[in-house]
Amino acid sequence: MPERMLQFVRLQQQTPDKREVALRSADFREIYEEFDPPRAKAQASRCSQCGVPFCQVHCPLSNNIPDWLKLTAEGRLEEAYEVSSATNNFPEICGRICPQDRLCEGNCVIEKGFDSVTIGAVERYITDTAFERGWVKPGTPIVENGMSVGIIGAGPGGLAAADMLRRRGYAVHVYDRHDRAGGLMIYGIPGFKLEKHIVLRRWKLLEEAGVVFHLGVEIGRDLSFSDLRQRHESVLIATGVYKARDIGGPGVGLPGIVPALDYLTASNRQGLGENVPAFASGTLDAAGKHVVVIGGGDTAMDCVRTAVRQGAASVKCLYRRDRANMPGSIREVKNAEEEGVEFVWLSAPEAFLGDTSVTGVRAARMRLGLPDASGRQSVEPVEGSHFTIPADLVIKALGFDPEDLPAAFSEPALTVSRWGTLKVGHTSFMTSLPGVFAAGDIVRGASLVVWAIRDGRDAAAAMHTWMRQNATLAVAAE
Ligand code: FAD
Ligand code: SF4
Ligand code: SF4
Repeated sequence: MPERMLQFVRLQQQTPDKREVALRSADFREIYEEFDPPRAKAQASRCSQCGVPFCQVHCPLSNNIPDWLKLTAEGRLEEAYEVSSATNNFPEICGRICPQDRLCEGNCVIEKGFDSVTIGAVERYITDTAFERGWVKPGTPIVENGMSVGIIGAGPGGLAAADMLRRRGYAVHVYDRHDRAGGLMIYGIPGFKLEKHIVLRRWKLLEEAGVVFHLGVEIGRDLSFSDLRQRHESVLIATGVYKARDIGGPGVGLPGIVPALDYLTASNRQGLGENVPAFASGTLDAAGKHVVVIGGGDTAMDCVRTAVRQGAASVKCLYRRDRANMPGSIREVKNAEEEGVEFVWLSAPEAFLGDTSVTGVRAARMRLGLPDASGRQSVEPVEGSHFTIPADLVIKALGFDPEDLPAAFSEPALTVSRWGTLKVGHTSFMTSLPGVFAAGDIVRGASLVVWAIRDGRDAAAAMHTWMRQNATLAVAAE
């Protein structure tokens, strides 16, 4: 092993610089600066090149992390990029938005006693450098194989599959109801975590490789699912999950109480230079308002931090469990706290106050009870513990479920689980319909970009095998 590795005993962990709170809270630019080359090299050299790399075991893509860290430490960045991009279609995106504290970095073995290797930041640095130096090329196939696939949904799952199938010579057609490709990476996740041009340049590369995008086309409305199946040898459903979980209680229908994704999409569209009427009218703009966000996941964190940037008068996050039991990434909670968000732990809304629009939230204190079957502690209200928080914008961020896809696609034979997610074969990725595959959140339920990429890659491999077998059988039958 070269002497330049194993430097964790000498070198402290250093993440890329975080922008000053006052500056970053006033715009939607990413909050972390890029690593400078000497720091990236030095940080990569902290890796101890484990024989059994737990970082890799806990990366959903099984990225070859020790190898690209070593190549970075040696200054062999183009090779580092080759290794990194062999297992990940969008490494610079995962490097920015994976919850590394729960995945690769959280399982880095030098963490005990020494802070983990900054894997995500190095991954981002490698591919950003590759883009700058022109090493990232479109995945244009060497030969066309004469078969075509239709992909419904241009989120990370659909795009990863499109990339893999196009490289194998398929004519790839991606259909999305939105006017831009990227799915939640464009319209959900805010720019301070992932700037939009990072996603848009991937879309452009796919177009350059020959992937055809049919945007503004909703399957089941503008084009029927059965017509789509007629057009292609096989179809991938990667439509994500969008049915917002709702909340009950008196006053919940008052104006000023809005779903998280409406709020975030309006903000993202505004940031992309569009004129969004609900933003212009103030309905989905937090400027000058007292904002209460209900929920404790990553979507809630994105809402509170968006409200700060829009110039809210105050921003509170109401969550019924405590900090230790929060589903959101601890790193994001810390960022939100630094930016002035107040967390009201162990509290749940009971009623929404106001006559013509919301003016406050009446909440109750909660206490944690015994763990349930899943090991998660239950919660119960503390009697007589009501309190009121003034609010003129309340954002509901309670998670998402799948829409009723068999109904939306007029295809009752499409089998779903009891949660409404599509059922697929464990390794075949095929749904109950022959030649129809599925990947990403619509199979897993609300999850992560990195898992959608993994599923998109695996589904593409399964589709390729199925289509080749079918083509061989067709020739044999002639
Ligand atoms: P999506 O990204 O949802 O894409 C599905 C696409 O299908 C959409 O473009 C949609 O328009 C299209 N579509 C749906 N139905 C139809 C139809 N009938 N016809 C045509 N098109 C259709 N994950 C992380 O890893 N890190 C994060 O920091 C993070 N932050 C998040 C923040 C928010 C606010 C949200 C909501 C999610 C976040 N996630 C994060 C989760 C992540 O975005 C998703 O897990 C991931 O995008 C799922 O990918 P997908 O391809 O399955 O679906
Ligand atoms: Fe870590 Fe995500 Fe990169 Fe895997 S893809 S190495 S989990 S940041
Ligand atoms: Fe390097 Fe940490 Fe992975 Fe070990 S677990 S190979 S030290 S990054």
